[in-house]
Order: sequence, then structure tokens, then C-alpha cells
Amino acid sequence: MAVHEKIGTMIEDLTRWRRELHTCPETAFSEAETSAYVAEKLLSFGLDVDRGLAGTGIVATIRRGEGDRPAIGLRSDMDALDITEATGLPYASRNEGKMHACGHDGHMVMLLGAARYLAENDTFRGTVHFIFQPAEENEGGGGRMVREGLFERFPVRSVFAMHNFPVLKEGTFAICKGPMMAAYDVFDIRITGRGGHAATPQNVKDPILASAYLVNLLQSVVSRDINPTQAAVVSVTEIHGGTSYNIIPDTVSLRGTTRHFLTQVQDRVESRIREICAGLSASFDIAVNVTYERRYPPLVNTDRETEEAIRAAILVSGSDRVLTDIVPVMTSEDFAFMLKERPGAYMGIGAGRPRENGFLHQAKYDFNDRILPIGASYWATLVETVLPKTS
Ligand SMILES: [Zn+2]
Ligand SMILES: [Zn+2]
Repeated sequence: MAVHEKIGTMIEDLTRWRRELHTCPETAFSEAETSAYVAEKLLSFGLDVDRGLAGTGIVATIRRGEGDRPAIGLRSDMDALDITEATGLPYASRNEGKMHACGHDGHMVMLLGAARYLAENDTFRGTVHFIFQPAEENEGGGGRMVREGLFERFPVRSVFAMHNFPVLKEGTFAICKGPMMAAYDVFDIRITGRGGHAATPQNVKDPILASAYLVNLLQSVVSRDINPTQAAVVSVTEIHGGTSYNIIPDTVSLRGTTRHFLTQVQDRVESRIREICAGLSASFDIAVNVTYERRYPPLVNTDRETEEAIRAAILVSGSDRVLTDIVPVMTSEDFAFMLKERPGAYMGIGAGRPRENGFLHQAKYDFNDRILPIGASYWATLVETVLPKTS
């Protein structure tokens, strides 16, 4: 494995930084302490640091060489999750109910390691923007950075990101060309009937019964309205209603999410959910209000940048440890907003050891520090191969 020698020697620093960040998890758009920590490190390496995009966002820059050379962006997320940590580790979360359970602490440090190495060594020509974004989980901080002028203020030819995957072996890499992760939409449905005594159903309009039908009907969208060769998911994830054994409530509310890769599938899923709710309303003589929100677009890797990412990963880990054609997944990622604007590629890095370290979004998850120098070396190698000194 060809981890950069100078990055390999940073392992103690990288591990310490990662554990320091792990103690202070902050969620969407509240990453104040995290952002200050990252900015302080970047300034100490000598980078130009811009703060404030999307609130807590950071863009730090290294320029090398004269003239009109290309620029690229490397992106890390910064936010944590609303989970109460159960690892019992000495560096566990000190923020009650918040936890770095998706490894964004590790992502920040892999990018910081590369920034320090690239600042201290003259190994590329061009411009690298290190992008640290808030609110990857649910709230679309990457999209907000784009809307607030990320690529107008920091023009790039292409943009890259990376996420740890505990299910993959430590130090492996995984990617595919084209769609790699799904679009993420959410829906809220409120069924309003007329409540009353449970023993006099003839006098009520029962939203509980209607909600039971609705959950079943929604499962017909993917199975009967979507071409089986085109992926989609409809999941109802919350139902709330009622207070007692003997009272039929006035209202029941449901929530859920849908996933898909193609706009025509997304359009069909949304319209069928609305039509089913309209039909339910007529069938039960009950009001059914639907709010449907399109949150993240699908994450689509472009061909050239995927090949650049693969080349860098192979230089770090060897071709037998780089999966180049993985099956896309139905989870989603707000780096998709950046990929909608610029060519680029999203790389998975194997973290391994899920038995010891847990899976993503679990209260016992912990980032595997052994991959910190591997990920930092991937970033450094990507910069050195995409923006070589010799061209
Ligand atoms: Zn996550
Ligand atoms: Zn994540």
C-alpha cells in the first residue's frame, strides 16, 4: 500500500485531531466549534481561509505556479447526528444527544492531513480549494453553499468528495461511473376525519382506518407504477395518531421518504402518491393533505473524473483493492448538489471492522483511525495526478 511517507508519519497528529473533533459533534448549520477548529488548523498550515458560506462553511485554498492553471475542489462534510453516543470511549461526545456517527470527523481530518502535506510540499501545479461544508445530513448544506456562490467565488474545473464505508475492507476504495446514489425526497401526509367514541363508529370519519389503507396503497407505487428495471423506494417511516383505547382521533399524520435515480421516475412517484391520497380522500370521505418535497438530487459521477479518482486510488491501494464498478445504492448524499454544477466524482473508502467500530448512524459507531493516512494519501495523490507539476 503506497501511503505517502510524509502523511504516514502524521498518524499520531491525525488521530489526535480526529478524536478532538469527535468530542464536539455539532449538527446542521450549528458547526461553530467544529468550523473554528478546522479553520485554525488550515490557517496554521498557511492556507488562505474563507469562512461564512452557508454559515459555518469553509473554503481554504492553495495555489501553485503561475498563469492560467486549472482549479479543483475537494469536499468534506462537518456535521454530526442527533444520536446519543454509546461507545464509552474516552473521547466520546461531550455534546448531549449529538454524535459523530457517520464519520464526518474522520472525513475532515483526512482532508486536513492532505492540506497540511500539500502546503508543506511543492508537488502540484494549479489551485486546490478545500471545501468544508455544514449540514450534509438531511439539511443540504452543500446545496446552500452552491446557492450562495461557491463556484462563482471559487471556480473549479471539477470537484471530488469521499465517504467512509464500514462494510468495505479497510483501505479499499469503491466507486462507479454515472448514478451512484439516489435522489432523496420526503413527504408529509395529514389525514383529517372526525373523531369520536370508539364504540360509535357510525358517527365518525376514522383517520386510523384510512391510514392503514394508505400505507398499503403506497406500497403499490413501486410494485405497479414503476418500470421494474428502474429503481425506486417508497418508505413510510412515521405514523402518529390517537390518544386512548376508546377514542377515535380527528387526525393521523404520516411521513416518509422516496428514492430514485431518474427524473421521470421521481415525477411518477410524486404524482402517484398525490393521486392515491386523492382517491383515499374520496373513498373515506375524509381530508388528505400531501406535502411532497424534493430534497437531494441523485449523485452522478462523470466519466473523466471517475477515472481520475480511480487512478489515484489505485496508486494508493493497488488495483486489487479498488472496486471500479459497484452497484449504486439508494441512500443519498448532498454532494450531489455540487455534482449538478461541476463534473466530479464521489469515492467510497473502506473503513472495515464494523464489528468493532459499528455501522454508520449507530450509537456504537466509531471512525477507524487506521484509514486516516490512507484517505489523506488518496486526496494528495488525486491532486498530484490531476494537477501535475510537469504539465
Ligand atoms: Zn450519514
Ligand atoms: Zn455521512
